[in-house]
Amino acid sequence: MSRSVLIIGGNRGIGHSTVRAFLERGDKVAFTHRSSGADPDLAYLGALPVLCDITDPEQVESAFKEVEADQGPVEVLVANAGITRDKLLLRMSEEDFTTVLETNLIASYRLAKRATWSMVKAKQGGRIILVSSAVALKGEAGQTNYAASKAGLIGFGRSLAREVGSRGITVNIVTPGLTDTAMAAALPETRVNEIIGDVPLGRIGRPEEIAATIAFLASEEASYITGAVVPVDGGISMGH
Ligand code: NDP
Repeated sequence: MSRSVLIIGGNRGIGHSTVRAFLERGDKVAFTHRSSGADPDLAYLGALPVLCDITDPEQVESAFKEVEADQGPVEVLVANAGITRDKLLLRMSEEDFTTVLETNLIASYRLAKRATWSMVKAKQGGRIILVSSAVALKGEAGQTNYAASKAGLIGFGRSLAREVGSRGITVNIVTPGLTDTAMAAALPETRVNEIIGDVPLGRIGRPEEIAATIAFLASEEASYITGAVVPVDGGISMGH
C-alpha cells in the first residue's frame, strides 16, 4: 500500500537516504529543503520537493498543505532535520543554546503536532519517527545544547506515544551514532577517529543504515512498536 510520507530535511545526509528508502517501498514521498536546495535526483525519482524552514510556523503549515494537496494527508512523518553548534558550555552563548533547541526540539514539536492533528482527523492511524542521537543517551563534551535537544525528543516522543496510541498512531525515536554526512564531516578528524575508536563495530555509520531502521519503524512489521528508542550506532551507546 502506498502511503503519504513527509521527510523533513530530505535533501541531503540521512534524510536523503530515507527519501530513497521510502521511494523503493513504493510510497508517495515529499521532502523538505531549505538552504541547500532540493536535490534534482530525488525529484527525478518521483519525490516532491517542498521549501520549508521548520523554525517558521507559517512555512510548516504551508508545507503540510502543499503535501496534502499533492499526495493526501501525511501518514508517515520523519522529523529528521537537525543542527549542531558545538562549544564548551563556558563559551556557549544563550543564542547558541536556544538556536539548537529551536530547530531540533521545538520545531519537532511543531511538526509532530501538525501531523498528529491530520492523522487524528483522518482516523487511519499513522507513524511518527523522530531522529534523535546517541549523544542524547551518553552525552558529549561540547554538545550540551545538542544533547539537551536530542534528549528532549525522547521525553517528547514517549509522552506523545502514550497520548496517541489509542488512535493507532505510533511514535518512535531513532538514535544514530556518528554517521557519514556533512554533520560528521564538520568534526575535526582527530575527534572522528576517537569516536570510531569507541564504536564496538569499529566504523562510522552509513546514512542508508539509519534510513533502513526509519523505514522499518514505519512499516507494517513494526505495527506493535511505539515509544521505543532505537539505537543505530554500532553499539556506542549500549549501557546508557
Ligand atoms: P546534515 O547536516 O547532512 O543534514 C541536516 C538536514 O537538516 C538538512 O537537510 C538541512 O536542510 C535540515 N535542516 C536543518 N535546519 C533546518 C531548518 N531550520 N529547517 C528545515 N530543515 C533544516 O545532517 P545529517 O543527515 O547528518 O543529520 C540528520 C539528523 O540526524 C539530524 O537530526 C542529526 O542531528 C541526526 N544525527 C546525525 C548524526 C551524524 O553523525 N551525522 C548522528 C546522530 C544524529 P538544509 O540542507 O536546507 O540546510
